[in-house]
Amino acid sequence: MEISTILDKIHLQIQPLLSQGKVADYIPALANVNHQEFAMAVTLNNGEFYGVGNYQQHFSIQSISKVFSFTLALRHYKKKLYRRVWREPSGDPFNSLIQLEHENGIPRNPFINAGAIVVCDSLISKAADGELALKDLLTFIRLISADDTIGIDESVASSELQHGFRNSALANLMKSFGNIDNDVEQVLTTYFKQCSVSMNCQQLSRAFLYLANHGIDPITQKQILTSAQTKRVNALMLTCGHYDASGDFAFQVGLPGKSGVGGGIVAIIPGKMSIAVYSPALNEFGNSLVGTKALELFTTYTGLSIF
Ligand code: GLN
Repeated sequence: MEISTILDKIHLQIQPLLSQGKVADYIPALANVNHQEFAMAVTLNNGEFYGVGNYQQHFSIQSISKVFSFTLALRHYKKKLYRRVWREPSGDPFNSLIQLEHENGIPRNPFINAGAIVVCDSLISKAADGELALKDLLTFIRLISADDTIGIDESVASSELQHGFRNSALANLMKSFGNIDNDVEQVLTTYFKQCSVSMNCQQLSRAFLYLANHGIDPITQKQILTSAQTKRVNALMLTCGHYDASGDFAFQVGLPGKSGVGGGIVAIIPGKMSIAVYSPALNEFGNSLVGTKALELFTTYTGLSIF
């Protein structure tokens, strides 16, 4: 079956599910979206593109940004980064505090909030301040998306800043253990802005291609990561990319992927393509409900997964 035919079939099949799930409202600005929205985009390693639904509509990428920041931090710090953040699934919700105290302020992995806050702190140390770290991150995202228009939705960032009590608790706890080097407020402001990057499915599927091609952007041939680093990012996406539902995502979909509470998920098929999906209503684990289903259907219809 052609990819465009498969996307049309998925689009039809997910319709009855669009009324299920719940949009994230703990960040009030995220609740201002159309709950029924659905879009899916596929970019092949050779640059061919397929899309269904409103795949050019922007949304808040939220935790999908953690893949970009982790990639940048890996480029700067290499293996030294793992002294501050581990690579083990947490089995807990993305914003949980419980393990962090027992484990002396070292987050389980870079894709839960605590881990991403540490990664953000490391980027600030490298860039000298939060604004510059953010600028570097945006430059990087624009480079790998081949799109200079990508920016931050400031209203989402300030909404999260006003309500980010849990992230503030995580950052302060890690600071008390000596695992945050910069000013906590600066780290949080930078982290919230990173989460508020606004992108669409087409841009996201383009941006993740380096992870489907051993770290080299298959279109520009630019090396983003080494092949070994890419293997590790993908392993972390598979084992930790959906928090305490990562096992179930691997079971249902069978691909490394990363979700965000804005309703996006991006998954890659090594050597072949990158797939982005958007549907803002979430399941109980904070992952897009319809997005997960759509990806499951995609791997079922194409017969492609890493297993
Ligand atoms: N900005 C969100 C938060 O920190 C990101 C969480 C997510 O997308 N899972 O709560």
